[in-house]
Parts: sequence; structure tokens; C-alpha cells
Amino acid sequence: MPAPLDVVVIGGGQAGLAAGYHLRRLGLDFAVLDAQPTPGGAWQHTWDSLHLFSPAAYSSLPGRLMPPQPGETYPDAAHVVAYLTDYEQRYELPVHRPVRVAGVHRDGELLHVETDSGSWRARAVISATGTWSRPFVPAVPGRTKFRGVQLHTVEYRSPVDLAGQTVIVVGGGNSGAQIAADLVPAAALTWVTPREPRYLADDIDGRALFDHATARRRALDEGRTDSGGVASLGDIVAVPPVREARDAGLLKAQPMFDRVTATGVAWADGTTAEADAIIWCTGFRPGLSHLAPLGLRGPRGHIPTTGTRALGEPRLHLLGYGDWTGPASATLIGVGRPAREAARQIADLLR
Ligand code: FAD
Repeated sequence: MPAPLDVVVIGGGQAGLAAGYHLRRLGLDFAVLDAQPTPGGAWQHTWDSLHLFSPAAYSSLPGRLMPPQPGETYPDAAHVVAYLTDYEQRYELPVHRPVRVAGVHRDGELLHVETDSGSWRARAVISATGTWSRPFVPAVPGRTKFRGVQLHTVEYRSPVDLAGQTVIVVGGGNSGAQIAADLVPAAALTWVTPREPRYLADDIDGRALFDHATARRRALDEGRTDSGGVASLGDIVAVPPVREARDAGLLKAQPMFDRVTATGVAWADGTTAEADAIIWCTGFRPGLSHLAPLGLRGPRGHIPTTGTRALGEPRLHLLGYGDWTGPASATLIGVGRPAREAARQIADLLR
């Protein structure tokens, strides 16, 4: 077993790399353990047409601006993967892959990190495992009886795979709207949303979202009234393909159905729709099962934190995941600040 490190970072996506950047600056001894064989975190697995909702300069990790992608205002996922690959090389971040962490255990003064390829010990742990590994599908009656294809956002790749088919897309967030827009030219589409779609104003993209998150963080820091997270502005960024499909009248949302049948879906008023495929764009949960041995789980599957630090275990920080670990911490530009704070707090703790 290797000698104990100051810090083990679990997860080598953008959040884990931002943590590594700040740990390195503070001179701490650390390793990043990532389950993927190659760099890029979840960006390696998104659908083909996905583009960021912010320009490159507003999608950067600490220390290095994302270069613009030639010909694109909003970079695509492959560009993000290239940027993250370059980032970890440039800062010589010690990322070990593929290494999947099975469990984190208390071991006296240390934390013991059990993996599929041996054990690590550290004085502190940063968990940055994201949400992509835990797709969420609601328990709609009849779902298991459907004889067609069911996909989650994580499994959708391209409209080509569903060309000519009748497809129901479920979900009123960015993934639902973007995948529905992606399918418009190829499939007979029904888009179903739990409530009327809430588009952000057309001139709002990730830059404005980040400004809003920053203003909110400042208000919270100063003890002023919480204006609400970015969700208070709307659910869907009107990125160009979504805007075009919506303005052409091709993105008409239906209310949520009551149940799934063998051949489609049915609403309470007796209306039905047949489908070859249902795509569930219904969100994610944080991938935290490796932390179960610490017994820290709180309501809604989250681990209660103050900032990024786990309330029940001061040697553990959580990074990314969602606003509950810091405003905008699950975005490229937003993760830098909580990463810096987590690294700083760990350095203080170990001193
Ligand atoms: P991930 O990228 O998921 O990285 C986590 C890493 O941890 C992965 O490599 C994973 O394999 C690894 N891992 C998981 N479990 C273990 C384990 N037990 N042991 C070891 N390793 C493990 N953000 C923006 O800033 N701009 C956007 O335009 C934008 N668009 C988005 C569009 C979609 C559809 C989605 C879903 C998200 C979008 N986001 C966007 C949000 C966010 O930037 C991404 O979700 C991002 O991938 C989160 O980074 P992360 O490092 O927290 O997690």
C-alpha cells in the first residue's frame, strides 16, 4: 500500500481537475483517481450535437482560458474533452486511470480509499464524482410493461439512431429541450414536460447564468436575502437549435402523461400516444455510493455540507454535483471558486 497522501481526489472530471490545480498551488501531496480510461469526465459521453450554453471564455477552469473553437460560438463536447485533456497535462496533475473507488472508510487519523486496483490512504478526501453515473427515471406506472425502447439522456447519441420512428421525449430541462430539438427533423416527436416549458430570455446564455450565480453567492456571503438559484430565471437556455425549433412551432410540449402502456403512453383523460421509443430526460442524482461507509447521507440522497465540507466529516469535501456544494459548482466556470476554497480549508486542517 502506498504511503499516506495529504489528499485523494475521487473523480477526474472538471471538478476533480480544478481541485488538483488548487492542491498543487498549495503544495499538497495528492492523487486523483478516475474511473474513466481517458480524460474528459462526463463530456466524453454526451450526445453528438451537444454544445455548451456559454462561449469558451466563459467555460474555463482556474488558470487557463478555454480556447475558442474555430467556427463555433458555443463549443461542442469534443472541444471540452480536448481542453480538459490539455489541462491535466499542462498542470501535470497526477490522475490515475482507470481506478474506480468502491468505498471510503475511516481509519484512525486517515481516510482509507478502497479501489478496484488497490487501496490508498489520505489525510483528507475530495469527492468529485459528478452525477452522470446516476441517471434518474421517475417511477411512472406501467414503465416496465413498455415493449419499445427506453433510453435515458445518458444513452441518447444521435437522431440517426431513431430516424423515422415515433419518439416521446420526457423532460422540461435543457436536456429534454435539446434532445427534442435534435429529433425534430428525424422522428415523429411528442415532447412531454411536467409543467409548461420555462425558457430563459433568448439573450441569456451561460454568461448571464454565471453572473446571476455570482451575485447570489455575494448576497449569501453578506447575509442578504437569497434571490434564488439560476433555476429562478427559467429551466431552458434557448440555445440556437432549441430556439429555431421552438420559433418554427415544432417544439410544442404536452403535459405529463399518467402511465406508460405496452405501446406508448396514456393521459388521465383517456388520450393515448403510441411510441417506438421513450427518452427520459429526467435528471440525475449525485454519485455518492462510495461514501456510504462514512454514514453521512442526509435528505434527498445528499450529504449535508457547509460550503464544500461535509458536516459530519471535516476531512471530506464534496465538489461539483450541484448548487448544494456551492453556487454554480457543477459548471466549468463555477467550480473554480469552491475548488479553491476546499483546497484552502484542507491545507488549514492539515497544518
Ligand atoms: P463528471 O464530468 O461526471 O466527472 C466525474 C468523474 O468521476 C468521471 O470521470 C467519473 O467516471 C468519475 N467517477 C465517478 N464515480 C467514481 C468512482 N467511484 N471512482 C472513481 N471515479 C469516479 N456545464 C457548463 O459549464 N456548461 C454547459 O454548457 C453545460 N452543459 C451541460 C449539459 C448537460 C446535458 C449536462 C448533463 C451537464 C452540463 N453542464 C454544463 C454541467 C457540468 O459542467 C457537467 O455535468 C460536468 O460534466 C460536471 O463535471 P464533474 O467533474 O462534476 O463530473
